[in-house]
Amino acid sequence: MSPLPCGHSVDDLVAHLAGDAPELAAHVAACPHCAARLAELERRWSAVRETAVTPVPTPPGLVERVLAAVRGVRPRPAGAPVEVDREGGRTSVAERAVLAVCRQAAVDLAGDLGLHVRATAVEDGELQVLVTARYPAPAVVAADDLRTALDRELRARLGVALVVHVHLIDVH
Ligand SMILES: [Zn+2]
Repeated sequence: MSPLPCGHSVDDLVAHLAGDAPELAAHVAACPHCAARLAELERRWSAVRETAVTPVPTPPGLVERVLAAVRGVRPRPAGAPVEVDREGGRTSVAERAVLAVCRQAAVDLAGDLGLHVRATAVEDGELQVLVTARYPAPAVVAADDLRTALDRELRARLGVALVVHVHLIDVH
């Protein structure tokens, strides 16, 4: 988005909303250009927030299952091996080891995208990552970017392709 006629940018307004630019408060309160742009941003973000809190892409019960798994109440015996496809055949890798690598990769990558990893679990050979975002981060886009980056990273670290699901469970 281009700068406003009054000379301020969307970045300025984001900083203002985040409370990081107290010197802008008086201007924003009086400026019709800033007011109009702020209203537009609020509309966009409320659409993002609605998307983020509507659990459409998250299968029913998944969040509870993943959180239960992370708390150690596993739906199957702890340490049960997870089968992952590898070129030239199948190999078993301890679920715990896979999860440790996945969790570290998720945390490493999420920070750069403004996301916070709440929980990770490997279920039926698929990685489930639950994340939250701080409003007004572009959370939906970031969650998708995280999925893509994790897919690439895990291929590199594990040498296998895991199906990665990133679930945006809250924007706060
Ligand atoms: Zn202005």
